[in-house]
Amino acid sequence: MHKEYVDCIVIGAGVIGLAIARSLALTGRHVFVLESEKCIGTGISSRNSEVIHAGIYYPPQSLKAKFCVSGRALLYDYAKVHNIPYKKCEKMIVATHSNQMQALYDIRKRAAKDLEPELNCLGA
Ligand SMILES: Cc1cc2nc3c(=O)[nH]c(=O)nc-3n(C[C@H](O)[C@H](O)[C@H](O)COP(=O)(O)OP(=O)(O)OC[C@H]3O[C@@H](n4cnc5c(N)ncnc54)[C@H](O)[C@@H]3O)c2cc1C
Repeated sequence: MHKEYVDCIVIGAGVIGLAIARSLALTGRHVFVLESEKCIGTGISSRNSEVIHAGIYYPPQSLKAKFCVSGRALLYDYAKVHNIPYKKCEKMIVATHSNQMQALYDIRKRAAKDLEPELNCLGA
């Protein structure tokens, strides 16, 4: 019987599994990626909206906010290095009803605190 020895096995070849596998392989480890579908990246990773999120809606100082903001910078760097085209088209958040104004102010405050200077937090 043929036996294969590996250092790490990553289950699931979506964007997360592949990124983890790449990171492990770059340290010299022998990595196997197991995928139940016929091809890699055919799960949620191939069906998302392709937006690089700002992290603006996550609770301040939460891990989601921290990872989203640091991951966004890493993703832009990766895209530049590998000549992957992207469009930084910016985002406008508006209130469509007066009862949404407080939420809008809160988002603006959070953006100014956590995400400046990259975001333009113009007065309302
Ligand atoms: C509608 C929608 C829109 C989104 N839009 C965005 C966006 O604009 N920007 C953004 O950053 N994020 C977005 N996301 C989130 C993002 O797409 C996901 O967080 C990301 O793709 C998850 O990647 P993953 O590798 O964890 O999962 P997946 O891509 O689902 O990969 C998991 C893989 O594991 C495999 N698998 C599962 N079980 C097993 C098993 N037992 N054995 C072997 N293989 C297995 C699956 O077949 C699959 O290939 C969106 C999500 C959704 C649902």
